[in-house]
Amino acid sequence: MIDIEHLNKTYATPHGRYEALRGIDLHIAQGEVFGVIGPSGAGKSTLVKCINLLERPDSGAISIGGQRLTGLRESQLRAQRRRIGMVFQHFNLMTRRTVYGNVALPLEIAGVPRARIAEKVRRLLELVGLAHLADRYPSQISGGQKQRVGIARALANDPDVLLSDEATSALDPETTRNILALLREINRKTGITVVLITHQMEVVRQICDRVAVMDKGQVVESGRTVDVFAAPRHPVTRAMVSAVTASDLSDETLAALRQKVARQAAEQPGQAVRVWRLALSGGDAGSLLGELAAGHGVSVTLVQARVEDIQGIAVGTVFVMVQGAPEAVAAAQGAAQARNIQIEEIIHESATDQPALHLAA
Ligand code: ADP
Ligand code: MG
Repeated sequence: MIDIEHLNKTYATPHGRYEALRGIDLHIAQGEVFGVIGPSGAGKSTLVKCINLLERPDSGAISIGGQRLTGLRESQLRAQRRRIGMVFQHFNLMTRRTVYGNVALPLEIAGVPRARIAEKVRRLLELVGLAHLADRYPSQISGGQKQRVGIARALANDPDVLLSDEATSALDPETTRNILALLREINRKTGITVVLITHQMEVVRQICDRVAVMDKGQVVESGRTVDVFAAPRHPVTRAMVSAVTASDLSDETLAALRQKVARQAAEQPGQAVRVWRLALSGGDAGSLLGELAAGHGVSVTLVQARVEDIQGIAVGTVFVMVQGAPEAVAAAQGAAQARNIQIEEIIHESATDQPALHLAA
Protein backbone atom coordinates (compact mmCIF):
# COMPACT_ATOMS: atom_id res chain seq x y z
CA MET A 1 0.00 0.00 0.00
CA ILE A 2 2.67 2.48 1.09
CA ASP A 3 6.10 1.70 -0.30
CA ILE A 4 9.06 3.74 0.80
CA GLU A 5 12.42 2.98 -0.70
CA HIS A 6 15.86 4.30 0.24
CA LEU A 7 14.42 7.59 1.39
CA ASN A 8 16.94 10.30 2.29
CA LYS A 9 16.21 13.78 3.55
CA THR A 10 18.65 16.45 4.71
CA TYR A 11 17.98 19.89 6.17
CA ALA A 12 20.22 22.89 5.68
CA THR A 13 21.40 24.21 9.04
CA PRO A 14 23.94 26.86 10.04
CA HIS A 15 26.36 24.01 10.72
CA GLY A 16 25.89 22.35 7.36
CA ARG A 17 23.48 19.73 6.16
CA TYR A 18 21.68 17.63 8.73
CA GLU A 19 20.68 14.11 7.73
CA ALA A 20 17.16 13.73 9.15
CA LEU A 21 16.32 10.54 7.22
CA ARG A 22 18.94 8.03 6.15
CA GLY A 23 17.94 5.24 3.81
CA ILE A 24 14.42 4.55 5.08
CA ASP A 25 12.77 1.44 3.66
CA LEU A 26 9.20 0.70 4.74
CA HIS A 27 6.40 -1.39 3.29
CA ILE A 28 3.00 -0.85 4.82
CA ALA A 29 0.22 -3.20 3.79
CA GLN A 30 -3.32 -2.26 2.79
CA GLY A 31 -5.64 -2.21 5.81
CA GLU A 32 -3.06 -2.56 8.54
CA VAL A 33 -2.41 -0.34 11.52
CA PHE A 34 1.29 0.43 11.29
CA GLY A 35 3.27 2.14 14.03
CA VAL A 36 6.42 4.21 13.66
CA ILE A 37 8.02 4.76 17.03
CA GLY A 38 11.21 6.41 18.15
CA PRO A 39 12.64 8.94 20.56
CA SER A 40 12.33 12.66 19.98
CA GLY A 41 14.52 13.81 17.09
CA ALA A 42 14.53 10.38 15.43
CA GLY A 43 13.05 11.81 12.24
CA LYS A 44 9.44 10.65 12.60
CA SER A 45 7.79 13.96 11.75
CA THR A 46 10.15 14.41 8.83
CA LEU A 47 9.01 11.04 7.54
CA VAL A 48 5.38 12.13 7.92
CA LYS A 49 6.06 15.31 5.94
CA CYS A 50 7.67 13.29 3.18
CA ILE A 51 4.69 10.90 3.06
CA ASN A 52 2.12 13.70 2.91
CA LEU A 53 4.31 15.57 0.46
CA LEU A 54 4.93 18.70 2.49
CA GLU A 55 8.67 18.03 2.22
CA ARG A 56 10.48 16.80 -0.83
CA PRO A 57 12.93 14.01 -0.07
CA ASP A 58 16.51 14.39 -1.40
CA SER A 59 16.40 10.92 -2.89
CA GLY A 60 14.42 7.71 -2.73
CA ALA A 61 10.87 6.86 -3.72
CA ILE A 62 7.45 6.87 -2.11
CA SER A 63 4.37 5.34 -3.63
CA ILE A 64 0.87 4.92 -2.30
CA GLY A 65 -1.34 2.26 -3.81
CA GLY A 66 1.08 1.86 -6.69
CA GLN A 67 1.02 5.60 -7.53
CA ARG A 68 4.50 7.05 -7.33
CA LEU A 69 4.42 10.37 -5.46
CA THR A 70 8.02 11.41 -5.74
CA GLY A 71 8.48 13.21 -9.05
CA LEU A 72 4.94 14.56 -9.38
CA ARG A 73 4.26 18.22 -10.25
CA GLU A 74 2.66 20.52 -7.64
CA SER A 75 -0.83 20.36 -9.22
CA GLN A 76 -0.71 16.57 -9.31
CA LEU A 77 0.51 16.50 -5.72
CA ARG A 78 -2.54 18.40 -4.51
CA ALA A 79 -4.82 15.72 -5.89
CA GLN A 80 -2.69 12.98 -4.33
CA ARG A 81 -2.70 14.72 -0.93
CA ARG A 82 -6.46 14.15 -0.69
CA ARG A 83 -5.75 10.44 -0.48
CA ILE A 84 -4.06 11.00 2.89
CA GLY A 85 -6.03 12.11 5.95
CA MET A 86 -3.88 13.82 8.60
CA VAL A 87 -4.44 13.81 12.37
CA PHE A 88 -2.31 16.18 14.47
CA GLN A 89 -1.11 16.30 18.06
CA HIS A 90 -2.66 19.71 18.74
CA PHE A 91 -5.81 19.01 16.71
CA ASN A 92 -5.41 22.16 14.54
CA LEU A 93 -9.14 22.97 14.64
CA MET A 94 -10.56 26.25 13.42
CA THR A 95 -11.69 28.01 16.60
CA ARG A 96 -14.33 30.13 14.86
CA ARG A 97 -16.01 27.16 13.26
CA THR A 98 -18.29 24.71 15.03
CA VAL A 99 -17.59 20.99 15.23
CA TYR A 100 -19.81 20.64 12.17
CA GLY A 101 -17.99 23.46 10.37
CA ASN A 102 -14.58 21.94 11.03
CA VAL A 103 -15.55 18.58 9.57
CA ALA A 104 -17.30 20.26 6.64
CA LEU A 105 -14.27 22.41 5.72
CA PRO A 106 -12.31 19.93 3.59
CA LEU A 107 -15.53 19.06 1.73
CA GLU A 108 -16.23 22.74 1.04
CA ILE A 109 -12.70 23.15 -0.28
CA ALA A 110 -13.22 20.13 -2.51
CA GLY A 111 -16.38 21.76 -3.89
CA VAL A 112 -18.85 19.16 -2.66
CA PRO A 113 -22.54 20.31 -2.90
CA ARG A 114 -24.09 21.52 0.38
CA ALA A 115 -26.70 18.81 0.74
CA ARG A 116 -24.08 16.16 0.22
CA ILE A 117 -21.81 17.85 2.79
CA ALA A 118 -24.58 17.85 5.41
CA GLU A 119 -25.21 14.17 4.92
CA LYS A 120 -21.54 13.29 4.96
CA VAL A 121 -20.71 15.33 8.08
CA ARG A 122 -23.62 13.74 9.92
CA ARG A 123 -22.29 10.27 9.14
CA LEU A 124 -18.72 11.20 10.12
CA LEU A 125 -19.83 12.73 13.43
CA GLU A 126 -21.82 9.59 14.17
CA LEU A 127 -18.77 7.47 13.40
CA VAL A 128 -16.66 9.35 15.97
CA GLY A 129 -19.49 9.62 18.52
CA LEU A 130 -19.97 13.40 18.34
CA ALA A 131 -23.35 13.79 16.62
CA HIS A 132 -24.75 15.49 19.75
CA LEU A 133 -22.00 18.15 19.78
CA ALA A 134 -22.22 19.31 16.15
CA ASP A 135 -23.03 22.92 17.10
CA ARG A 136 -20.38 23.37 19.80
CA TYR A 137 -17.18 25.33 19.25
CA PRO A 138 -13.73 23.79 19.89
CA SER A 139 -13.39 25.83 23.12
CA GLN A 140 -16.53 24.13 24.45
CA ILE A 141 -15.35 20.52 24.12
CA SER A 142 -12.68 18.33 25.77
CA GLY A 143 -9.30 17.35 24.34
CA GLY A 144 -10.52 13.86 23.49
CA GLN A 145 -13.57 15.31 21.74
CA LYS A 146 -11.35 17.73 19.80
CA GLN A 147 -9.30 14.82 18.56
CA ARG A 148 -12.49 13.05 17.49
CA VAL A 149 -13.31 16.12 15.42
CA GLY A 150 -9.77 15.95 14.01
CA ILE A 151 -10.30 12.32 13.03
CA ALA A 152 -13.70 12.99 11.44
CA ARG A 153 -12.20 15.89 9.44
CA ALA A 154 -9.29 13.68 8.33
CA LEU A 155 -11.77 11.13 6.98
CA ALA A 156 -13.95 13.66 5.15
CA ASN A 157 -12.44 13.16 1.68
CA ASP A 158 -12.46 9.35 1.94
CA PRO A 159 -8.68 9.01 2.08
CA ASP A 160 -6.90 5.70 1.52
CA VAL A 161 -4.53 6.38 4.42
CA LEU A 162 -5.01 7.92 7.85
CA LEU A 163 -1.69 9.39 8.93
CA SER A 164 -1.39 10.47 12.53
CA ASP A 165 1.57 12.32 14.07
CA GLU A 166 1.47 12.00 17.89
CA ALA A 167 -2.35 12.20 17.87
CA THR A 168 -2.60 11.07 21.50
CA SER A 169 0.49 12.75 22.95
CA ALA A 170 -1.49 15.68 24.37
CA LEU A 171 -4.15 13.43 25.93
CA ASP A 172 -4.39 11.68 29.30
CA PRO A 173 -4.04 7.86 29.41
CA GLU A 174 -7.77 7.13 29.59
CA THR A 175 -8.59 9.44 26.67
CA THR A 176 -5.62 8.00 24.77
CA ARG A 177 -7.11 4.51 25.13
CA ASN A 178 -10.50 5.74 23.88
CA ILE A 179 -9.02 7.49 20.86
CA LEU A 180 -6.91 4.45 19.97
CA ALA A 181 -9.96 2.22 20.29
CA LEU A 182 -11.81 4.57 17.94
CA LEU A 183 -8.98 4.43 15.38
CA ARG A 184 -8.99 0.64 15.56
CA GLU A 185 -12.75 0.57 15.09
CA ILE A 186 -12.56 2.88 12.06
CA ASN A 187 -9.79 0.68 10.63
CA ARG A 188 -11.94 -2.45 11.06
CA LYS A 189 -15.11 -0.87 9.71
CA THR A 190 -13.64 0.88 6.68
CA GLY A 191 -10.44 -1.05 5.97
CA ILE A 192 -8.49 2.20 5.86
CA THR A 193 -4.71 1.89 6.27
CA VAL A 194 -3.59 3.66 9.45
CA VAL A 195 -0.06 4.93 10.08
CA LEU A 196 0.56 6.03 13.66
CA ILE A 197 3.65 8.04 14.47
CA THR A 198 4.35 8.08 18.19
CA HIS A 199 6.98 8.14 20.89
CA GLN A 200 4.66 6.15 23.19
CA MET A 201 5.17 2.37 23.30
CA GLU A 202 1.72 2.15 24.88
CA VAL A 203 0.17 3.33 21.60
CA VAL A 204 1.99 0.66 19.63
CA ARG A 205 1.10 -2.01 22.17
CA GLN A 206 -2.58 -1.21 22.05
CA ILE A 207 -3.32 -1.11 18.34
CA CYS A 208 -0.45 -1.55 15.93
CA ASP A 209 -0.25 -4.76 13.88
CA ARG A 210 3.34 -4.02 12.95
CA VAL A 211 5.87 -1.47 14.04
CA ALA A 212 9.06 0.15 12.80
CA VAL A 213 11.47 1.62 15.33
CA MET A 214 13.37 4.74 14.27
CA ASP A 215 16.52 6.18 15.76
CA LYS A 216 18.78 8.92 14.37
CA GLY A 217 17.09 8.98 10.99
CA GLN A 218 17.13 5.23 10.42
CA VAL A 219 14.76 2.31 10.88
CA VAL A 220 16.65 0.17 13.38
CA GLU A 221 14.12 -2.60 13.85
CA SER A 222 10.72 -3.58 12.49
CA GLY A 223 8.30 -6.48 12.68
CA ARG A 224 5.03 -7.70 14.14
CA THR A 225 4.28 -5.81 17.34
CA VAL A 226 4.07 -9.02 19.40
CA ASP A 227 7.48 -10.15 18.17
CA VAL A 228 9.13 -6.81 18.80
CA PHE A 229 7.68 -6.69 22.33
CA ALA A 230 8.63 -10.26 23.13
CA ALA A 231 12.21 -10.00 21.88
CA PRO A 232 13.39 -6.44 21.23
CA ARG A 233 16.85 -6.47 19.62
CA HIS A 234 18.04 -2.88 19.28
CA PRO A 235 18.99 -0.98 22.49
CA VAL A 236 16.51 1.81 21.67
CA THR A 237 13.71 -0.74 21.30
CA ARG A 238 14.73 -2.55 24.48
CA ALA A 239 14.61 0.67 26.45
CA MET A 240 11.16 1.56 25.12
CA VAL A 241 9.74 -1.92 25.59
CA SER A 242 11.04 -2.24 29.15
CA ALA A 243 9.19 0.95 30.03
CA VAL A 244 5.99 -0.98 29.28
CA THR A 245 6.84 -4.56 30.21
CA ALA A 246 9.45 -4.04 32.96
CA SER A 247 11.74 -6.48 31.19
CA ASP A 248 14.71 -5.76 33.45
CA LEU A 249 15.29 -5.94 37.19
CA SER A 250 16.39 -2.79 38.98
CA ASP A 251 19.91 -2.76 40.41
CA GLU A 252 18.47 -2.76 43.95
CA THR A 253 16.25 -5.76 43.27
CA LEU A 254 19.16 -7.59 41.70
CA ALA A 255 21.49 -6.92 44.65
CA ALA A 256 18.87 -8.04 47.16
CA LEU A 257 18.19 -11.18 45.12
CA ARG A 258 21.85 -12.06 44.96
CA GLN A 259 22.07 -11.99 48.74
CA LYS A 260 18.92 -14.04 49.10
CA VAL A 261 20.14 -16.66 46.66
CA ALA A 262 23.51 -16.93 48.43
CA ARG A 263 21.73 -17.35 51.76
CA GLN A 264 19.39 -20.05 50.44
CA ALA A 265 22.27 -21.92 48.86
CA ALA A 266 24.28 -21.82 52.10
CA GLU A 267 21.31 -23.01 54.17
CA GLN A 268 20.52 -25.92 51.90
CA PRO A 269 23.70 -27.50 50.65
CA GLY A 270 23.24 -29.70 47.61
CA GLN A 271 20.33 -27.62 46.30
CA ALA A 272 20.51 -25.56 43.15
CA VAL A 273 19.17 -22.01 43.45
CA ARG A 274 18.58 -19.98 40.28
CA VAL A 275 16.90 -16.83 39.15
CA TRP A 276 15.45 -17.01 35.68
CA ARG A 277 14.06 -14.43 33.35
CA LEU A 278 11.29 -15.98 31.27
CA ALA A 279 10.27 -14.20 28.09
CA LEU A 280 6.65 -14.99 27.29
CA SER A 281 5.00 -14.59 23.96
CA GLY A 282 1.61 -16.16 23.72
CA GLY A 283 2.34 -18.60 26.54
CA ASP A 284 0.21 -18.93 29.63
CA ALA A 285 2.33 -17.56 32.48
CA GLY A 286 0.15 -18.95 35.29
CA SER A 287 0.05 -22.51 34.04
CA LEU A 288 3.78 -22.41 33.31
CA LEU A 289 4.67 -21.59 36.91
CA GLY A 290 2.30 -24.26 38.20
CA GLU A 291 3.79 -26.82 35.88
CA LEU A 292 7.36 -25.99 36.85
CA ALA A 293 6.56 -26.42 40.51
CA ALA A 294 4.27 -29.43 40.37
CA GLY A 295 5.78 -31.43 37.56
CA HIS A 296 9.38 -31.23 38.59
CA GLY A 297 9.40 -30.93 42.36
CA VAL A 298 11.15 -27.59 42.44
CA SER A 299 10.05 -24.63 44.48
CA VAL A 300 9.22 -21.59 42.39
CA THR A 301 9.03 -18.10 43.87
CA LEU A 302 7.76 -15.21 41.81
CA VAL A 303 10.19 -12.28 41.89
CA GLN A 304 8.71 -9.83 39.39
CA ALA A 305 6.26 -10.18 36.54
CA ARG A 306 4.70 -7.93 33.99
CA VAL A 307 2.56 -9.52 31.36
CA GLU A 308 0.70 -7.35 28.88
CA ASP A 309 -2.08 -8.16 26.51
CA ILE A 310 -0.92 -7.26 23.03
CA GLN A 311 -3.97 -7.58 20.84
CA GLY A 312 -5.03 -10.79 22.57
CA ILE A 313 -1.57 -12.30 22.99
CA ALA A 314 0.13 -12.42 26.40
CA VAL A 315 3.59 -10.91 26.12
CA GLY A 316 5.90 -10.07 28.94
CA THR A 317 8.64 -10.95 31.31
CA VAL A 318 8.49 -13.10 34.44
CA PHE A 319 11.38 -13.38 36.92
CA VAL A 320 11.32 -16.42 39.18
CA MET A 321 13.60 -17.93 41.79
CA VAL A 322 13.78 -21.68 41.36
CA GLN A 323 15.15 -24.01 43.98
CA GLY A 324 15.55 -27.77 44.22
CA ALA A 325 17.76 -30.75 43.50
CA PRO A 326 20.09 -29.91 40.58
CA GLU A 327 18.52 -32.61 38.33
CA ALA A 328 15.00 -31.34 39.12
CA VAL A 329 15.98 -27.76 38.29
CA ALA A 330 17.58 -28.91 35.03
CA ALA A 331 14.43 -30.87 34.16
CA ALA A 332 12.25 -27.84 34.87
CA GLN A 333 14.45 -25.72 32.62
CA GLY A 334 14.13 -28.27 29.84
CA ALA A 335 10.34 -28.33 30.22
CA ALA A 336 10.09 -24.56 29.89
CA GLN A 337 12.33 -24.55 26.84
CA ALA A 338 10.21 -27.31 25.30
CA ARG A 339 7.24 -24.95 25.64
CA ASN A 340 9.15 -22.40 23.60
CA ILE A 341 9.71 -20.09 26.51
CA GLN A 342 13.03 -18.28 26.42
CA ILE A 343 14.96 -18.64 29.65
CA GLU A 344 17.83 -16.44 30.64
CA GLU A 345 19.67 -17.36 33.81
CA ILE A 346 20.18 -14.17 35.82
CA ILE A 347 21.63 -15.71 38.97
CA HIS A 348 23.09 -19.18 39.21
CA GLU A 349 24.24 -20.61 42.47
CA SER A 350 24.57 -24.01 44.08
CA ALA A 351 26.55 -25.23 47.04
CA THR A 352 28.99 -27.11 44.88
CA ASP A 353 29.47 -24.50 42.15
CA GLN A 354 31.35 -21.27 42.30
CA PRO A 355 28.85 -18.44 42.34
CA ALA A 356 28.39 -17.09 38.86
CA LEU A 357 26.40 -14.16 37.64
CA HIS A 358 25.00 -13.88 34.17
CA LEU A 359 23.52 -10.51 33.53
CA ALA A 360 21.10 -9.83 30.76
CA ALA A 361 22.78 -7.94 27.95
P1 ADP B 1 10.81 13.51 15.56
O1 ADP B 1 9.48 13.81 14.98
O2 ADP B 1 11.18 12.07 15.56
O3 ADP B 1 10.99 14.10 16.93
P2 ADP B 1 11.81 15.31 13.50
O4 ADP B 1 11.55 14.68 12.20
O5 ADP B 1 10.90 16.40 13.94
O6 ADP B 1 11.93 14.19 14.64
O7 ADP B 1 13.29 15.90 13.50
C1 ADP B 1 14.40 15.09 13.18
C2 ADP B 1 15.66 15.94 13.23
O8 ADP B 1 15.64 16.88 12.16
C3 ADP B 1 15.78 16.75 14.51
O9 ADP B 1 17.12 16.74 14.92
C4 ADP B 1 15.32 18.13 14.10
O10 ADP B 1 15.98 19.12 14.88
C5 ADP B 1 15.76 18.20 12.64
N1 ADP B 1 14.85 19.06 11.87
C6 ADP B 1 13.52 18.88 11.71
N2 ADP B 1 13.00 19.84 10.89
C7 ADP B 1 14.03 20.64 10.54
C8 ADP B 1 14.15 21.81 9.70
N3 ADP B 1 13.09 22.32 9.06
N4 ADP B 1 15.37 22.36 9.57
C9 ADP B 1 16.44 21.83 10.20
N5 ADP B 1 16.42 20.74 10.98
C10 ADP B 1 15.23 20.15 11.16
MG1 MG C 1 7.73 14.62 15.77
